[in-house]
Amino acid sequence: MSEAQVIPAGKTIGVLGGGQLGRMLAQAAGPMGYRLHVFEPQAKCPAGAVADKEVNAAYEDIGALSAFARECDVLTYEFENVPAAPLRAIEPLTKLCPHWSVLETAQNRSREKNWLKNNGFPHARFAEVVANGDLVAGIREVGVPCVVKTADFGYDGKGQLKVMTEADVPAALKRFAGQLVVIEQFVDFSCEVSAVVARSGAGEMQVFPVAENIHTNHILDFSIVPARVTPAVADRAEVMAMEIAEHIGLVGVLGVEFFVTRSGDVLVNELAPRTHNSGHCTMDACNVSQFEQQVRAICGLPLVKPELKSPVVMVNILGDAWAKGEPDWAAVQALPGVHLHLYGKAEARPGRKMGHFNVLAGDVESAWALAREAKAGLFG
Ligand code: AMP
Repeated sequence: MSEAQVIPAGKTIGVLGGGQLGRMLAQAAGPMGYRLHVFEPQAKCPAGAVADKEVNAAYEDIGALSAFARECDVLTYEFENVPAAPLRAIEPLTKLCPHWSVLETAQNRSREKNWLKNNGFPHARFAEVVANGDLVAGIREVGVPCVVKTADFGYDGKGQLKVMTEADVPAALKRFAGQLVVIEQFVDFSCEVSAVVARSGAGEMQVFPVAENIHTNHILDFSIVPARVTPAVADRAEVMAMEIAEHIGLVGVLGVEFFVTRSGDVLVNELAPRTHNSGHCTMDACNVSQFEQQVRAICGLPLVKPELKSPVVMVNILGDAWAKGEPDWAAVQALPGVHLHLYGKAEARPGRKMGHFNVLAGDVESAWALAREAKAGLFG
């Protein structure tokens, strides 16, 4: 099936992974007239609660995956660690957007870094150490300070360790013994930004305004839009996100994370071929959400040119907010300009993304002040 073919309302979208990104995709696709099926190993997933159908099976279960694919007119994924091999196996059965090869590149830090290098995109200097290779030699090659990261299953800072001084080297040796790792130069960034880009099968592209991202313990805490960077930096990030989408052959949505160095250089940190946490602000602050844009891109509909209706700050709500019991949602929702989105997860674990809220205000500094105040209020 051609990637540019239109899949009209009434057809069925299949999503692999049943987390909050699948849930918000389902919430956008329903009113647009699509049916949405979810494939997720764990029962009672957040997306399943709002989908037309939930299938629980392992991603490696080719039989179950094939049956799922046959019921859907287009498939996409919302979780970066869906294994690429089963997706490759079911390729003849349905259309998959983005293609499995995009996922395969982005889900492994070694392939991702080499792709950036081979395609000429600026990134932090890095070295690779093969399984059972010489980690110390790799650290010497990049130099200290650096960050050691496992090649697989890395997101939200999982599987990584900073080596700030020589004294940290033994800890890295112990933690990563025998593993395939990527060692990155530590970037002393002035800030982190991201851009969410959508590309359709016909090659049409649209990019959302750049977000400034503040992480705490490696997990996104706040996204601020417009990002407080120079227009040149914002343009550079937006243009690079579109160039990456084109070079990688994206059909769907891609989040690109960047480091902005103190000298104003923009380096690519990570690619995520799906909707992105920093794009959640589009749900309330833009004329089109990243989830509607994802439906449009994978179903071959024209994309909407994103317009920011209001400055916004997105605040992630992690399970930590439940330390003293259920947070006072009514108090959060009583605040002017605050839009709450909860993901329906039953168990609140520390570090688990449970929801977010978007704070809209007349100017970005007011939104930022209100966002911090509202977040502090969550912890009573
Ligand atoms: P990652 O999962 O690779 O996106 O890393 C999560 C966060 O860790 C990033 O958003 C940065 O805040 C920090 N980080 C990762 N790699 C580096 C690096 N090479 N230099 C400085 N900070 C980093």
